[in-house]
Amino acid sequence: MDVPADLLKATIRAVAERIVAHAEELTTLDQAIGDGDHGINLRRGFGAVLAELDATAAKPLPEALRAVGTTLVMKVGGASGPLYGTLFLALGKELPAAPTRADAARALAAAIAAVQVRGKSEPGQKTMLDVLAPVQRALAEADGPLGAALRQAADQAAEATVPMQATRGRASFLGPRSIGHMDPGARSSALIVAAVTEALEGAA
Ligand code: ADP
Ligand code: MG
Repeated sequence: MDVPADLLKATIRAVAERIVAHAEELTTLDQAIGDGDHGINLRRGFGAVLAELDATAAKPLPEALRAVGTTLVMKVGGASGPLYGTLFLALGKELPAAPTRADAARALAAAIAAVQVRGKSEPGQKTMLDVLAPVQRALAEADGPLGAALRQAADQAAEATVPMQATRGRASFLGPRSIGHMDPGARSSALIVAAVTEALEGAA
């Protein structure tokens, strides 16, 4: 069965609203180790996603994800726009209209690989990948209820970026002074994971 349009709509809305609600927090994190625009960038992008929500949610899941990705690429300034754009575009390319858990795990792995190519980056460099990769592993390995397991994996992984030294992105310019702060993109990825899993649980 295809993902029902109302569930798709509620999930995209939850993600966009969560990011918009946490924009100041994300900007504060980026003020510590970047240029202080991560929340502003993502609020612009996900605000545009919200403005297009009706049209996007009327599409099948793969096309809807590609529409979100295209909007993020176009509207978000900064490194995170092309990277989150790539993530959603690749998920749209990889997921069938009615994905199983195994489909989701495989598609997320492929989407993370696409982000790594785009960012010339890999996990361990204090970026969004340090949340996305552990969440993908939890998705592939969990065999019970998923939501809480994925949220815990994401929150722990975001917390684990605090003691890391950044070697990619703007924060890497700080060298050792990037240590001691959570990576803004890691936090936004954890927010997205929380919003998606809570929306899907709400529907279950
Ligand atoms: P900018 O760094 O251009 O100001 P943002 O502030 O919107 O862009 O996003 C910063 C976040 O993007 C970082 O916290 C990090 O998680 C992520 N990021 C930056 N560069 C890369 C990269 N090469 N690969 C993966 N993630 C990256
Ligand atoms: Mg920034």
